[in-house]
Amino acid sequence: MTKTVGITALIPPELIYACHWQPFDVNNIVPTSHTSPRSKLCAWTAVWRDMILDGGMYLDSLVVVAGGDCHNALVDGQKVAMSGKPTHYFFYPFDRDPEYMESQLLHLTEFLGGIKETGMFKQVWDLKQKGKALDRLRVEDRVRASDVFSALISFSDLQGDPVAFEKCLDNILRTNVEYSSRVALIGVPPIYPDFHEVAESLGLHIVYDELPYEFIRLGGGDLRSIARSYRDYSFSGPIETRIKVIKRELDKRNVDGVIHYTQFACHHTLEDEIFREYLDYPILTVQGDLPRPTPEQIVLRLEAFSEMLEVST
Ligand code: SF4
Repeated sequence: MTKTVGITALIPPELIYACHWQPFDVNNIVPTSHTSPRSKLCAWTAVWRDMILDGGMYLDSLVVVAGGDCHNALVDGQKVAMSGKPTHYFFYPFDRDPEYMESQLLHLTEFLGGIKETGMFKQVWDLKQKGKALDRLRVEDRVRASDVFSALISFSDLQGDPVAFEKCLDNILRTNVEYSSRVALIGVPPIYPDFHEVAESLGLHIVYDELPYEFIRLGGGDLRSIARSYRDYSFSGPIETRIKVIKRELDKRNVDGVIHYTQFACHHTLEDEIFREYLDYPILTVQGDLPRPTPEQIVLRLEAFSEMLEVST
């Protein structure tokens, strides 16, 4: 039976499948979880930590992205490791060194028992082309943003089954999207499972999801090209590079405004003032904490932002 490895942030799913393991992005279960963490800073890491420790999420092993992405994951990952779960720590190179990135991928493949099937590189690459096509359809107003977000966020682990996942992608409804303004969603993804639907209901068409877009932007046909691509995972590197990627996408997607989602007790929250200085768009910053439906207070702020954009565009 294929073993399951939990991942706490993006690492190449093509490599995990090529090692004949099944990846499981531990974050994807958090927004619909009813777990109340015993101790926490950020609810994202605290919820998956408690779910693993309490047996609510079964994994054979865990890979903690410990460098370059999330500092809270490092500590909560160690708590899981100390419970006896086989755990590997993965580090992105902040200086974007391709050799270092390749060595990290080699350590990861060793932890997973080595590459068994390189054909998975091509299979996942082809799926990502479908993801990109969907992303383009959303920009052309032909697919709902909530459907595209659900699909793109699953590219971190392909829902544990690339064949079934491809069918899900093919079945996403094509439609004519009506809206009053086009917006981008930057920052970590909202912990509220209905956030995109709420935005849609208020006339906001989210044409860019920063983090899930990274999941389909990166790829490669062999270990070396995967290393060169994934070292550019913008969330794990210097903010200047991230701003360049964001600016290019905002321009290309013709957005009217930006929503910056921040998470309570997340260091990325400190980036808000940098975005406000470097992005020349109306920006709404919203902050979440525990997983639950989007609170009414945030709904009202989204509504006011939508009305403001409608008047100014
Ligand atoms: S929101 Fe921030 S602190 Fe929480 S898991 Fe994501 S990166 Fe880590």
